[in-house]
Amino acid sequence: MLTIKNKKIAKEWKDHSKDWITCTRCPLHCHSKNVVLCRGSLPCQVLFIGEAPGRDEDSCGEPFVGISGELLNTAIEAVISTQTEFTYAITNTVGCIPLDVTENDSGRLITSKLRQPRPNEMDICKPRLVDIIRIASPQKIVCLGEVALKNLRSMIEGTIYWDVTRLRHPSYVLRNGGVRSQEYYTFIEGLENVVKGLQT
Ligand code: SF4
Repeated sequence: MLTIKNKKIAKEWKDHSKDWITCTRCPLHCHSKNVVLCRGSLPCQVLFIGEAPGRDEDSCGEPFVGISGELLNTAIEAVISTQTEFTYAITNTVGCIPLDVTENDSGRLITSKLRQPRPNEMDICKPRLVDIIRIASPQKIVCLGEVALKNLRSMIEGTIYWDVTRLRHPSYVLRNGGVRSQEYYTFIEGLENVVKGLQT
């Protein structure tokens, strides 16, 4: 769900989403059910940027709604329980699910396997991310994983200053023990540092 309190931003978001939800700029649109844009609040103090939508996100059109999203929500709730106000939004490096597919001779899908987005796909999708960063206008950006960080660095280096932090992707935390693991505590610690540094 997306909450937008400001009328000007609501108008900007409407224009932005109208353009991108029907996007066919890169080949990823061929096998995606939905272009996944953003959830949370706009504007926000912290913008989380993940890698790409997975199957749950592709089905419902919202980022981080599967088990990775649950872990992220749990971590955010644990960290913000003492904060009087904390606003955040979540998006991804690309808007469509990246899949390797095999098809039969008549073009019917036989198998599909999740993969990382390719550099050309991330490049083509950059204007969508630039728009979201501009509309979200966050104090801090948290990249979830190395792919998101590399992509963001290539976009902003030498042009705009953003306070950027990299945390592990929630799916990595899940693969390495989940909410009872050292990786999760490290994730929480990183998130606490992000929240502590926010200006109120
Ligand atoms: S990944 Fe981005 S550029 Fe490619 S089709 Fe989806 S929204 Fe468009």
